Amino acid sequence: MDTATGNLGIDTDILISGASIGGPALAYWLDRYGFNVTVVELAPRMRVGGQAVDVRGPALEVAERMGVLDGLRARQVQMRGMSMVDGDGTELFRTTERTITGGDIDSEDIEILRDDLSEVLAGAADDRVEYLFGDSITAVQEDEDGVLVTFRNHAPRRFHLVVGADGLHSNTRRLVFGPESDFIRHMGTYLSVWTVPNFLGLDRWQVFHQVPGGTWGGGVMSVRGNTECRVYLGFESAEPIEYDHRDAEAQKRLLAARLGGLGWEIPRLLEHMWTAEDFHLDSMAQIKMDSWSRGRVVLLGDAGYCASPLSGQGTTMAIAAAYILAGELKAAGGDHVVAFAAYEEALRKYVAQNQELAYTNKARVEAQAAAEMGADTELDTAVPDFQEAADIIGSLVLKDY
Ligand SMILES: Cc1cc2nc3c(=O)[nH]c(=O)nc-3n(C[C@H](O)[C@H](O)[C@H](O)COP(=O)(O)OP(=O)(O)OC[C@H]3O[C@@H](n4cnc5c(N)ncnc54)[C@H](O)[C@@H]3O)c2cc1C
Repeated sequence: MDTATGNLGIDTDILISGASIGGPALAYWLDRYGFNVTVVELAPRMRVGGQAVDVRGPALEVAERMGVLDGLRARQVQMRGMSMVDGDGTELFRTTERTITGGDIDSEDIEILRDDLSEVLAGAADDRVEYLFGDSITAVQEDEDGVLVTFRNHAPRRFHLVVGADGLHSNTRRLVFGPESDFIRHMGTYLSVWTVPNFLGLDRWQVFHQVPGGTWGGGVMSVRGNTECRVYLGFESAEPIEYDHRDAEAQKRLLAARLGGLGWEIPRLLEHMWTAEDFHLDSMAQIKMDSWSRGRVVLLGDAGYCASPLSGQGTTMAIAAAYILAGELKAAGGDHVVAFAAYEEALRKYVAQNQELAYTNKARVEAQAAAEMGADTELDTAVPDFQEAADIIGSLVLKDY
């Protein structure tokens, strides 16, 4: 950093915590603008797992500007359609026009497995971006010129700025802004995701089931050339459940206890769960904060403003926000206070709308559950309103930086 002018530039060291979606996208843009970028990720390598996520609206534009749009299209899941079944597996209806996870099949949006997206975004950046896997920040101490960061494994290092892109249970947020309980809003639903063999013989197809009354529901979709399926099962719990977010085995026991004895293919899906290495369970929750930055530390994506998978927009927000944060840092000519304020200004309304969308979607799913999955249930009431989502998503206009 040029200390005379305060300009951020070629010598500016920026640490990003988290290498999922927001982290790698930000690393790309910061590196492209000439900043020195280091990414610390808790997992020993790029994490596997996660359902299909959606890249829409401004995130498509960002992907194009990154030169990865074709790469993403080549890896999109390309479903043919979906069906819904009752507890005996009897089909209640099917469609080849839409799916629950991705909306309209002929839309421009890209539905892609979370880990594939993560890999493509990380692969876009130059080798200059340094990744520290299997590590985590333990302390952040800010002074006039920068931030002294202490790691669990690596030696302490100084950075000019720190970005927390470490998800719903952000470590950076906890260290700098305070306990998670100050910011998290549970939505009463838990969602688990894992991989199973394609024992149902699905051909680019999704099958969903929801217990009447809506206490739990979920489905499977075939992916990766029908060689495997991603499962997701969710259940309702009015009270937040206490569990260790890093202990997958304990989470599996929790899910099995909730879903044991249920119909459809649940017993077989649970059998495969015990050996699944990519098992992931989390609360559908949102993060609400008055400010996304404090001094030289700023939050990105789920860490600062998670909208929950119910919004269907976490990925799009993280990618678009990464572009804006990097762009504002460049545009502010080195004043991180100005840049962080501009980043919030550009995104606040958009985030609020997307967070609201999660509640709209949840209400629609609950209305459908109340109809108790009758054979005459209209598909339109069983899936979120993707047109409403599309209008909101399209409302963010990206600047050129
Ligand atoms: C394993 C996994 C599965 C997911 N599955 C789905 C899904 O099925 N559907 C869906 O809609 N969304 C899912 N998500 C969330 C989705 O990726 C985000 O909503 C969205 O893409 C925003 O991404 P993000 O980069 O802000 O946060 P996340 O994608 O949550 O990424 C946070 C990253 O930070 C890392 N991290 C956590 N703690 C630390 C730490 N102490 N130090 C360093 N790094 C840390 C995590 O390992 C992860 O790589 C999943 C996330 C993960 C990590």
